[in-house]
Amino acid sequence: MALILDGRKVARAVRDDVRALAQAYKDRKGRPAGLAIAQVGEAVASDVYTRALLRAAESVGVRASVVTLPEDIDDEGLRAAIETLNADDETQGILMQLPLPPQLSPRTVAEAIDPHKDVDGASLRSAGNLFLRFPSFVPSTCAAVVELLDRYDIPLAGKRVVIVGASNVVGKPLAFLTLSRDATVTICHVYTRDLAAWTRQADILIVAVGKPGLIAAEMACPGAVVVDVGINVQADGNIVGDVDYPAVAQVAGAITPVPGGVGPLTNLMLLKQTLLGRQLWSTE
Ligand code: NAD
Repeated sequence: MALILDGRKVARAVRDDVRALAQAYKDRKGRPAGLAIAQVGEAVASDVYTRALLRAAESVGVRASVVTLPEDIDDEGLRAAIETLNADDETQGILMQLPLPPQLSPRTVAEAIDPHKDVDGASLRSAGNLFLRFPSFVPSTCAAVVELLDRYDIPLAGKRVVIVGASNVVGKPLAFLTLSRDATVTICHVYTRDLAAWTRQADILIVAVGKPGLIAAEMACPGAVVVDVGINVQADGNIVGDVDYPAVAQVAGAITPVPGGVGPLTNLMLLKQTLLGRQLWSTE
């Protein structure tokens, strides 16, 4: 059986570190660090994530607040709202909850968020920094994956990393982050032919697609490290990842469960970036 990469256990240690950083920030500045969570509309799909993030912020001593923008806001209104947060001295980090409603352009967020407050790596500047191997904020899910590997002393340098999923929030930035750690990286996506031929080559297989059971046992190389980023809510309310966990755990060397793998670390990494700034992901 594979070693279980226990995100909940790692999260307890990370939470202690983040709490200490939050206290140090408070001692230095005389007030807690502030995180603004912007979301469009009241009842949005991201609401459950927002509530979990508020709890995580409270548990470490970061002052998080939700800025709810009108459902029918246009790009100009969104840009103005973000600029208000950019100018607010009590806001150290800005998170824009996704997905955005169809009338809004993702470009507005990428252009408007102050790069110094872009704690989820959503801005053009962060993307450019990551691409160029400059210190950078990165999307918190990607930070969580690397943190989990680091805490289990799983090295990336020289390893064959195969990432399934090429989104702007997970797959693509994770490819650059692991490349910056000197891995040999392959990105697969919905148009990749013979996915198994690629995934079987991975020393470290990272899956972020949103399709339960996508990765079967024969698609993993024996002994591989398998990181499942997928979150899929089933009809009975259960949450599963993209990997056929019981089967793949028989062949993998190490594997993340879902829930309890990458998920518990994601919000903590966002808070850590809020407190540390982008020097955290210095890739030089
Ligand atoms: P997305 O829909 O933006 O991107 C999905 C990617 O998967 C695309 O690049 C697409 O080409 C690829 N894909 C789709 N079908 C495929 C197939 N059959 N074979 C290979 N590739 C395929 O999704 P996302 O926002 O990147 O999220 C991916 C998953 O990760 C979702 O389940 C999401 O809920 C989860 N997620 C988890 C966290 C976390 O903290 N654990 C954070 C963000 C997203």
